[in-house]
Amino acid sequence: MDFDRFFQSQLQRLHDDGSYRVFADLERKQGLYPLATRHAANGSNDVTVWCSNDYLGMGQHPKVLAAMKAAIECCGAGSGGTRNISGTSHYHVALERELAELHGKDSALLFTSGYVANWATLGTLGARIPGLIIFSDASNHASMIEGIRYAGCAKAIWRHNDLRDLEAKLAAANPTSPKLIAFESVYSMDGDIAPIKEICDLADKYGAMTYLDEVHAVGVYGPRGGGIAEREGLMERLTVIEGTLAKAFGVMGGYIAASRQLCDFVRSFASGFIFTTSLPPSLAAGAIASIQHLKTNSSERVRHQESVRRIRVQLNRYGLPHLENPSHIVPFIVGDAAKCKWISDILLEDFHVYLQPINYPTVPKGTERLRITPNPTHSEADITHLVNALRSLWSNCALARGVA
Ligand code: PMP
Repeated sequence: MDFDRFFQSQLQRLHDDGSYRVFADLERKQGLYPLATRHAANGSNDVTVWCSNDYLGMGQHPKVLAAMKAAIECCGAGSGGTRNISGTSHYHVALERELAELHGKDSALLFTSGYVANWATLGTLGARIPGLIIFSDASNHASMIEGIRYAGCAKAIWRHNDLRDLEAKLAAANPTSPKLIAFESVYSMDGDIAPIKEICDLADKYGAMTYLDEVHAVGVYGPRGGGIAEREGLMERLTVIEGTLAKAFGVMGGYIAASRQLCDFVRSFASGFIFTTSLPPSLAAGAIASIQHLKTNSSERVRHQESVRRIRVQLNRYGLPHLENPSHIVPFIVGDAAKCKWISDILLEDFHVYLQPINYPTVPKGTERLRITPNPTHSEADITHLVNALRSLWSNCALARGVA
């Protein structure tokens, strides 16, 4: 078999429907976020980034950078091993303490990413708790789906955010089987928020554990950045809170926060924890600085919400098609992969706006979108520039479709 020919033919299908992904060569400008330098064949220029998950700009915060530099000075670059064999530093231990405190839990456990945290934890619980049934929201992230698949345990997929469907599935299950309900707080693509309290009520009624992915909410919501569960006073009702250090905290890594016994169990049995090199100490140091800053300062959160409000006002003023939701994620729905790519390419080339398309399988076909993520540092002029560019491109798309 000519493998390269096979690979190319598969890739051609992505080219044909406009969903082939191309990397932009961008360099963030220190201290000037959300500006970045784009390096292209025909030269370099500045672009405004509108699709970063560094929601609060903490990846450029002076306290975070100083903490990382200091940790590199003292500990060097890499961690030197897995957590069990030379890869645990003072910073890893201190970060786990910080995260446990943030979420009001006894313990926390670090992973190399949020993806690995979900995959390893759900995979381990599902594989090792005899008879466990995992009740998984239909819109859960790929990392949770893969973890459940890897576990090979029984599962029931309930309709997204649909409490009646969840209850019907819980009621239909064997009452003596152990159960776990896995869901997210802020869903990353539509920006809607789960009814956490009601899900916890159902969990109590049917004796289930709860597993909440707060990846898109930690740092951003709650008086100390503890997420939606903190904002709603529900942290203690959740069995496991999972999060990332790579979005609002601006660094990299993932974690769970839970009881001492649950964290110890995952620590002791999860291959995705045991058999991989731990995060560099400098990342852990940066994450501590970021979390501590956001625990005691709300100004990034306040300015962030203000940017979100201002862009929604402008999109509404011109009737541009975005999803209304109660979060900071502003999905501009285009509904076609090729049109999405066309808009995104022209935004970059002609308007110097970096806003990447989101295609299938990340979102269902026909709902392809530009996922706008405002930042506290976007100015009113940045917002007006983006909205004017979208107005012009969207009316061209409408003309192309023959829509008035
Ligand atoms: N959970 C959700 C809901 C996510 O959207 C993502 C990543 N986008 C992850 C987990 C994985 O987090 P990380 O990027 O830290 O691997």
